[in-house]
Amino acid sequence: MFRTEPRHKDFVMQINYRRARNVFALMLDRYRAGEYPFINIDTDLPQNLVASEFRVNPLQHALHLFCCCYYMRGTVISSDAFKIMNDLHREFPWLFNEEVLMMTTQHDIQAALNTRIKWHSNQISGFWLANARTLWNEWDGDPRNIFAGQPSKRTLYKRVVGKKYRPNGQRLTNRHEGFQGFQEKMTSMLAYFLESTKLIGPTPLSAPVDFHHLRVYLATQMIEIVSNRVRYEKVKPLGIKLAEYLQREFGLSQTEYGDIIWLWSLRSCKRSPHNASRKFDRDDGREQRMPIPVVWTKNQVAAYTRTCGRCYIHDYCGYGVPAGVYYTTGVFELVRRNAPPQARIFNAVDLPYAPAPTNGVRDEFRARFEIAAE
Ligand code: SF4
Repeated sequence: MFRTEPRHKDFVMQINYRRARNVFALMLDRYRAGEYPFINIDTDLPQNLVASEFRVNPLQHALHLFCCCYYMRGTVISSDAFKIMNDLHREFPWLFNEEVLMMTTQHDIQAALNTRIKWHSNQISGFWLANARTLWNEWDGDPRNIFAGQPSKRTLYKRVVGKKYRPNGQRLTNRHEGFQGFQEKMTSMLAYFLESTKLIGPTPLSAPVDFHHLRVYLATQMIEIVSNRVRYEKVKPLGIKLAEYLQREFGLSQTEYGDIIWLWSLRSCKRSPHNASRKFDRDDGREQRMPIPVVWTKNQVAAYTRTCGRCYIHDYCGYGVPAGVYYTTGVFELVRRNAPPQARIFNAVDLPYAPAPTNGVRDEFRARFEIAAE
């Protein structure tokens, strides 16, 4: 049975800056050496999944990436979304033409979206139409213009983040500011896609902090939490702060920094046995997932050897954080990691891994918090 999440007042977390610097330095080292997990990295980056016919014209390319952002949400697998967007673009090219969109209705957009992806189509079709109008009226129909003039981070957020309310709480009715459905993470995501495809120059924004970033931060205790379950919205602000800090500290662009963390999670952590989950049906009929217990079957040992067993930051990593649980519930569930018994007995003669972490940091932190709370 699932445990309930701790109440807000009991919830405590913090960034461990020293640990974060140490862990990230090791990751950067692998990245610069082009070694595992950074071999042939181009194949896995979602922006590289945009079909070649939509990359020929830079404006078309920028509009395609802009629209992909609608599906870069908490529980959507980005590579799937990019593949679906290629199909949509082929079948309904007018969806990516702001001039045509000015003369269409939300109903038409929703009908087109529903042929390929029904997920939140009512809401997204509304965003699609409203944002096409904003793009056309304020930015000459070109997303690259949003980033013109080397704007500061604050200005960019002001230009992009959609605001529903005035500061006094009054709802904006006739006038819209920013883009609907775009918050800070989406602003970073748009900048990241455009920057990494060389459609715009560098921006002052941090890398977009998504599931993969937070998985690495939580697994390695760069972000320490007292509970073993935490929702995305609660940990996200610390994730953004940490990404900005490490990006600045190591002098990296948002594209470089984002790729390092993202690819590490996608190429290595994703296949770890501690990150596997299985489906089960809840009483209310909805699908949910739970972590698969690691009992060191032959397959689990093999998966471990291919991933955690060769991971450069193994000694710092205390937890698995299964994607399946997150994608069905929005919750990061931390599963304590260990090494296969045969690896412990033979002391890494057959399996190239380091001993399982002692996880002292987390225990220390818990003790500190408990003492402070007394
Ligand atoms: S030890 Fe495994 S789960 Fe931890 S960071 Fe490395 S690959 Fe990911």
